[in-house]
Amino acid sequence: MSRIEMKTPLVEMDGDEMTRILWQMIKDELLTPFIDLKTEYYDLSLTHRNETDDQVTKDSANATLKHGVAVKCATITPNAARMTEYDLKEMWKSPNGTIRAMLNGTVFRAPIIVKGIEPYVKNWKKPITIARHAYGDIYLNTEMQVKGKGKAELVFTAEDGTKTSLPIHDFDDKGGIIQGIHNCTESIEAFARCCFNYALDVKKDLWFGAKDTISKKYDHHFKDVFNEIFEKEYKAKFEEAGIEYFYTLIDDIVARIMRSEGGMIWACKNYDGDVMSDMVSSAFGSLAMMTSVLVSPSGVYEYEAAHGTVQRHYYKYQKGEETSTNSVATIFAWTGALRKRGELDGLKELCDFADMLEKATISTIESGRMTKDLALITSIKEPKVLNSLDFIKEIRKNLEEMTV
Ligand code: NAP
Ligand code: MG
Repeated sequence: MSRIEMKTPLVEMDGDEMTRILWQMIKDELLTPFIDLKTEYYDLSLTHRNETDDQVTKDSANATLKHGVAVKCATITPNAARMTEYDLKEMWKSPNGTIRAMLNGTVFRAPIIVKGIEPYVKNWKKPITIARHAYGDIYLNTEMQVKGKGKAELVFTAEDGTKTSLPIHDFDDKGGIIQGIHNCTESIEAFARCCFNYALDVKKDLWFGAKDTISKKYDHHFKDVFNEIFEKEYKAKFEEAGIEYFYTLIDDIVARIMRSEGGMIWACKNYDGDVMSDMVSSAFGSLAMMTSVLVSPSGVYEYEAAHGTVQRHYYKYQKGEETSTNSVATIFAWTGALRKRGELDGLKELCDFADMLEKATISTIESGRMTKDLALITSIKEPKVLNSLDFIKEIRKNLEEMTV
């Protein structure tokens, strides 16, 4: 078979630790033998971010805005321990945070479903994709504890100095707690558009829930913004695509999700998304089987695995010990990005290759050959546990059978 030629480069963001090792194995075994891989390479390893004063992260985000599609390896977000370990000049910010802010994007997380790794909720048959609004609410709050009697008020001072105030509470002598939160219409609009665009892109229903009956201004504004944008810009497109936008109260959504068979995109306010994404990912079995894509309102895509750099496995790898690290989510980051690149460039072979690589990966697991994390939770009898490289090589064997 001749190698597939690419037209536009894919932005490649390399990363850290065990996922950096997997990254190279995936490229060597599963990509370059089949594709004349054309990438614009950015090394986002912590060492290189430190050398470039984190400029490389910003450059990679700008390249993504330019080319439209990126694939990212997991990266270390430095903390105090990493400062010493890597002798850092500064505690650099999370690359994901920086890229998300530059793309003004929303993160969509979805599990990869295979037979033999059953979700804990037995009626969930299709992936549930969670979209989390990553701006504001309690994550940018102002809080106060008050120790005695007094009055709390909400005050807004307009640019011209006009004040509008509302009473919050008259505290008794035991005092209490107060919290001020906000969100911006522009951010909610961008979130809504990301969700509607992504739903059209993957042809799945979009569900959104908030607490508008109790929060008649705050949560109601989210509901109104979504409705207005939907009616004006997306209603016809949704009808044409045969998908639905559905709003109901957040508690109703939770109840319906539990009874559903999955398959929808669930848009969540910031806190709901934080909590529910952990619930959904653990219910589907494994963090190593969770994909993640950052989508900008203008339609720029960055694909990655939802898990981190798998530090503990990397330390074993460094000592020369055998590792059995699951590369599935990282493989799916590549297939997601290649398929999107193929769609944008009208390269059907590239889209077909992405489909085949996903099938080869899933069938490897379903035939009982898998990494240790999956072997521990599978219902398949006597699974064969493979090391990191052998698992990838098994996928290659399957892929070669499919591509001849
Ligand atoms: P992690 O890398 O996701 O790993 C946590 C644990 O989950 C691992 O120790 C492992 O469990 C299991 N695991 C995760 N992915 C796996 C895989 N592919 N195959 C097998 N097991 C897997 O999270 P972390 O240890 O909290 O974070 C490590 C580093 O990653 C941190 O420096 C953090 O900043 C970074 N991080 C980056 C991203 C990102 O770039 N998107 C996201 C999260 C964290 P066992 O050890 O029990 O086998
Ligand atoms: Mg969380």
